[in-house]
Amino acid sequence: MIERDTLPAIPHGRRGTPQDRHTHVLVSGGARALDSLMPSLTAEVTDRGARHIPLPTDYLQHSAGGWLRRLPEMQYILGCSRPLLEWAIRDRLRRNTAVVIREDTDAVGLAAEHGRVVGARIRDRASGKAELLHAALVVDATGRTSHLGQWLTELGMAPIPEVAVDPRLFYATRIYRAPTAVSTSFPAINIQADPDAAQGRRSGLLMPIEDGLWSVTVTGSRGNEPGISADEFTAAARRLPHPAIADLLDAAEPVGPAAGFRPDANRKKLLTGGTTPPGLLVIGDAATVFNPVYGHGMAVAALGAVALRDELIRYGPNLQHTWKIQRKISAVGDTAWRMATSQDLLYTSTTGSTSRPLAARVQHRFQQRLARAGTEAIAAASLAVYTLSEPVSRLAAPRVLLDALRGGQQALLAEPPLTSQERQAFG
Ligand SMILES: Cc1cc2nc3c(=O)[nH]c(=O)nc-3n(C[C@H](O)[C@H](O)[C@H](O)COP(=O)(O)OP(=O)(O)OC[C@H]3O[C@@H](n4cnc5c(N)ncnc54)[C@H](O)[C@@H]3O)c2cc1C
Repeated sequence: MIERDTLPAIPHGRRGTPQDRHTHVLVSGGARALDSLMPSLTAEVTDRGARHIPLPTDYLQHSAGGWLRRLPEMQYILGCSRPLLEWAIRDRLRRNTAVVIREDTDAVGLAAEHGRVVGARIRDRASGKAELLHAALVVDATGRTSHLGQWLTELGMAPIPEVAVDPRLFYATRIYRAPTAVSTSFPAINIQADPDAAQGRRSGLLMPIEDGLWSVTVTGSRGNEPGISADEFTAAARRLPHPAIADLLDAAEPVGPAAGFRPDANRKKLLTGGTTPPGLLVIGDAATVFNPVYGHGMAVAALGAVALRDELIRYGPNLQHTWKIQRKISAVGDTAWRMATSQDLLYTSTTGSTSRPLAARVQHRFQQRLARAGTEAIAAASLAVYTLSEPVSRLAAPRVLLDALRGGQQALLAEPPLTSQERQAFG
């Protein structure tokens, strides 16, 4: 494993992953994938203070003008800081003697013979010494700043074509210490943007994490960008479609300043047998970047790693089949890609598609209807899809469709469904 950073020995942010200062939700489909690669990893992270947040029980969601009801646990998310999760994974990796980690080393290119990738060119950051690392298989896992296009061009190969849908969002995140009255099971609060709202796209998430902290993220599209000074951040929280998060922040204590981030567009490389040379695989953000608002990037990276493991077991050392492995890795991101792009295309601030597909609108209305019908079968299907535990086709199950057609349209709640004990958090 070639890594350009010095990897911290304790949970700590680092230069190569500037996104780690922002709220990172791990949905249960991704958590199970990580546990399949590294048994009991999520239990270990929970022992270190991460919150197992049951969905929809302790994930209060404001959507299209009202709050959804709380129901018994159907799925979950892991609530912890990104540095804690990353450190736990790294700690396991360091204990695996089959893995050699070369820190402070840049991957700077690829090597190819007869159209096949046969290694990576690397450079030690301290000495500047360059080296060619031969490999049966090279996996580009360099994240959203991957230089793969340039590396292929340098070899005389065509860069891999991409599609993009850009929601043009700005992210601001600040960490708070939760008020002392708050119990360790205080729910996460998600205030979603409303594509029909005249005031533009604004959303917010308050996520309980380790050490009694809240990671609070506020997002806005062009013209609605949250600022990162203390006053601008609280003002942005106040402008969300509901004041619950802003009211909670009034009673909480900030820990450090807010950080900003302008995420990339949803961006997908079209990795096929025709576009990807043998000997090369692409995984995680290097293959597909998702709008982080939907909290799917890490889960897709983990599911991709599971697909990679399973396919390598299947094909053994016969690596003529790399594009077949790539097909499986790419497929795990399909549901997340479909969800992110169809949601983003509902907003007029989004660019990257020549038209607003009617399909996205129809799907949005269907999802609203599902949310309001509020039966347990519908909630279970929606959450299984959202957490990447099951494919999007689960929403077309006969029971779900029947409930959607027959179910009444429950009124959403005007106020968050907090218990009297939880209400004490407002001070
Ligand atoms: C603001 C923000 C919020 C997010 N929130 C969520 C969330 O709530 N839930 C979620 O699931 N996902 C979230 N994501 C997405 C998540 O961060 C990524 O999907 C995930 O980190 C992808 O993992 P990766 O391993 O592919 O890339 P990264 O985690 O970015 O890792 C890439 C690694 O490659 C190294 N590297 C890069 N280039 C080189 C090079 N040339 N040579 C050597 N090493 C190199 C970097 O140092 C880094 O260690 C968010 C992203 C952003 C930007």
